[in-house]
Amino acid sequence: MPKAQETILEIHLDALTHNFNYLKSKLKPKTKFLAVVKAFAYGSCSVEIAKHLETLNVDYFAVAYTNEGVALRDAGITTPILVLHPQATNFKIIIERCLEPSIYSPKILREFIAVAEEQKQNDYPIHIKFNTGLNRLGFWHNDVDYITSHLKETKSILVKSLFSHLAASEDESEKEFSLRQIKDFKTITTDFESQIEYLPWLHLCNTSGVINYPEAHFDMVRCGIGLYGFGNSAKEDQNLKPIAKLKSIISQIHMIEKDETVGYNRAYTSSGFEKIATIPIGHADGISRQFGNGAGNVFINNQKAPIIGNVCMDMIMVNVTNIGCKEGDEVVIFDGNHKVSNFAESIETISYEILSAVSQRVKRVFYR
Ligand SMILES: *Cc1c(COP(=O)(O)O)cnc(C)c1O
Repeated sequence: MPKAQETILEIHLDALTHNFNYLKSKLKPKTKFLAVVKAFAYGSCSVEIAKHLETLNVDYFAVAYTNEGVALRDAGITTPILVLHPQATNFKIIIERCLEPSIYSPKILREFIAVAEEQKQNDYPIHIKFNTGLNRLGFWHNDVDYITSHLKETKSILVKSLFSHLAASEDESEKEFSLRQIKDFKTITTDFESQIEYLPWLHLCNTSGVINYPEAHFDMVRCGIGLYGFGNSAKEDQNLKPIAKLKSIISQIHMIEKDETVGYNRAYTSSGFEKIATIPIGHADGISRQFGNGAGNVFINNQKAPIIGNVCMDMIMVNVTNIGCKEGDEVVIFDGNHKVSNFAESIETISYEILSAVSQRVKRVFYR
């Protein structure tokens, strides 16, 4: 691997293949695989990730917002795409670009049927989302009659799947709650199926659900974070490979005397003669200000360098007093050995947030 010469996010597609195959190995052969590629595929690059997953014969994609689905269609992705969180204002374009909406409320159902009829659609595929305890998006069990009565009145839509989402699938201590969600999902979908003449697919599990609830895979699973290399537990992380490595370079080194300050607001004061390195990555690149003032570390020549002072928009300063290094040396923010999950823990957040925050300004470099 050539050394980074500027701030780059390396994306390793061989690791993606590994993670996809590992997650697939947890499924029955007939269970379909939906890859969640929302938020630029968790901060990597949704187009390249989707193209690669198409070569691996993934069954479905999901994005959160309509424009994310449009971007995939613009790039030539032909696999079905579920839009998890559409708004009524997007429905015309959803139909135009063959995207499939998650329908999560009575209002959204009425609005989608109106647009589908106006666009003279027949059996347009939709996905019905039920709330089983996350209390975020979705119909309640007692909406089933309302939904099916609307289905009987229109030929414009066809329910391709019924789904729900687990609230704490990674948390062993919430097992009882997850099992109740699984049970409620079965009850709701059985009720739904008894009122229509075809059988939509059922799906419930995200990555941790796939790992922890093999009895709840149903017809399809929806994996995001696992594809990108994290299993929400130290044990599962060992079976997966992080696809993204965030690297940078030392732009400049300053030697400073005792009691000099570093950065905006003079937030850091040196305690002696110190060596400070400046790195071209800041909060506009996705390094939250919370990493400042010693909270986070980067790695230079495999040694830990604490981020000192305030994180700037376009740079951070790190203390390299005890590290043999020079201007132009590579800096690792996270990679396969220095896990993003540890970096995330240093500011009490999770890998999902750090990965998806790597801004579009950071150059992506792909390895096949
Ligand atoms: C984001 C999301 C997923 C993927 O979850 P992971 O934990 O990343 O596997 C699955 N389903 C829904 C509804 C989501 O919003």
